[in-house]
Amino acid sequence: MTDSPIRPPDRFLVFGAPTMGEEEIAEVVASMRSGWLGSGPKVARFESDFAAYKGVEYAVAVSSCTAALHLSMLALGLRPGDEVVTTALTFAATVNAVIHAGATPVLADVDPETMNVDPAAVRAALTERTKAILPVHFAGRPCAMDELQALAADHGLALIEDCAHAIESEYRGRKTGTMGDFGCFSFYATKNVTTGEGGMVLARRETDAARIKVLALHGMSKDAWRRFSDEGYKHYLVTECGYKYNMMDIQAAMGIHQLARVEESWRRRQQIWTRYREELAGLGLGLPAEPEPGTRHAYHLFTVLVDEQLCGISRDDFLAAMTAENIGVGVHYLAIPEHPYYRETFAWRPQDYPQATRIGRQTVSLPLSPGLSEADVDDVVAAVRKVLQR
Ligand SMILES: *Cc1c(COP(=O)(O)O)cnc(C)c1O
Repeated sequence: MTDSPIRPPDRFLVFGAPTMGEEEIAEVVASMRSGWLGSGPKVARFESDFAAYKGVEYAVAVSSCTAALHLSMLALGLRPGDEVVTTALTFAATVNAVIHAGATPVLADVDPETMNVDPAAVRAALTERTKAILPVHFAGRPCAMDELQALAADHGLALIEDCAHAIESEYRGRKTGTMGDFGCFSFYATKNVTTGEGGMVLARRETDAARIKVLALHGMSKDAWRRFSDEGYKHYLVTECGYKYNMMDIQAAMGIHQLARVEESWRRRQQIWTRYREELAGLGLGLPAEPEPGTRHAYHLFTVLVDEQLCGISRDDFLAAMTAENIGVGVHYLAIPEHPYYRETFAWRPQDYPQATRIGRQTVSLPLSPGLSEADVDDVVAAVRKVLQR
C-alpha cells in the first residue's frame, strides 16, 4: 500500500519551533560585538520591560524557570519537612524545584475540565507542615486563583505561581505571576517568549527580590555589571552561599525583542487555537474547554485527548502516526506519579491521582507556534483526520 505522508520529510513540522525575528538576531550580534556577554545592561532592560508588561515593581531575570522556582522557595526559608502542595499534572521541574529547596512536594489532582490543580484537592492535601501552594497555569489557562488565594490566606501559606505556560494570562483583571508571593516564568526554547534558556521571578516584596538577586549570583552583594563598570573596581562580599543562576545579556538580547512581540504572537496563537477547536470537533477527540469568562488564556498548548475507546487508536499509536505524517507532537505531561523516581521516593501511586493520570495517558499537544502558516495548520488538521480515519 502506498501512502504518502501529509508533509514530506524535508518539511517536518517541528513542535514548539521558536519564531526569531531580525531584531533578536541583530541585538544578539550587537551584544557579541560589544564585548559584554554576561549579565549587564540588556538583562537590566529585559527585567524592567518585563516588570512593566506585568505592571509590577520587582522582576529578577535568571537562567531558567527551574531556578526561579528554586530561588522563590529558598527566599521563603523552607526547612526540611516543610510541605509544598502542587499539581500532579506538570513538568518535572515544578516538583524538582521543591526538592532542590529541601522541602517535600505533596501532589493534588487536577480538575478534568481545566486540567489545573483542583482547589478542593489542594485543601484535602494540607497538613500542619504545609508552607506553600505551587499552582501551575496549565497550557496558559489561569488556575482558580480566588479559591487558591483564599486557601493560602486562611492557612497562612505562601503562594508561588508556576507561569511557565502563562506569560499573557489574566484572571479576573489580575495578571498571572502577580497574584502570589512569587511568579516564575520560563523562556525555554518552546515557550511563548524565548531566550533559548532563561527565566524570570516576580516578587511581591522588595526584600524577596533583593534576596533572590543575591542568591542568583553566588550570594554576592553586588552584581558583576556594577563591579566591572567604569565607576572603578568595587569589592564584592559573599553574604551567603548562592547559586550560578544569572541570565546573560545574549539571552536578554533575544528576550527584549521577543517580549516586544508578545501580544502579536499571542493573537496568532489564539487564531490557530480557535481554528483547531472548530476543525477538530466531532472526531471523537477530547478538545480543550473554551477559556472561562473573565479570564485570558495564554494559548501556550493545544492539547487533545485520545481515548482509545472513542478514537479507535491508542494515544501512543496516535503520536507515532502523526510523526509518520511529519507533524511534530508533544505530551504535556505524563502525570508525575508515573515516573519511577517519584514513585520510589514518595510512594506516590498513579491511581491516587486519577484525573492527572488519565489525562497524562491520553494527551497529545499539537503544534501551536505563531510562525505556523495557514497551510501548516491545514496540514495538522488533515493529518489528525487521516490518522483517526485509519
Ligand atoms: C518549562 C517548564 C518549567 C521549567 O522551565 P525551565 O525554564 O526549562 O526551567 C517549569 N514548569 C513548567 C510547567 C514548564 O512547562
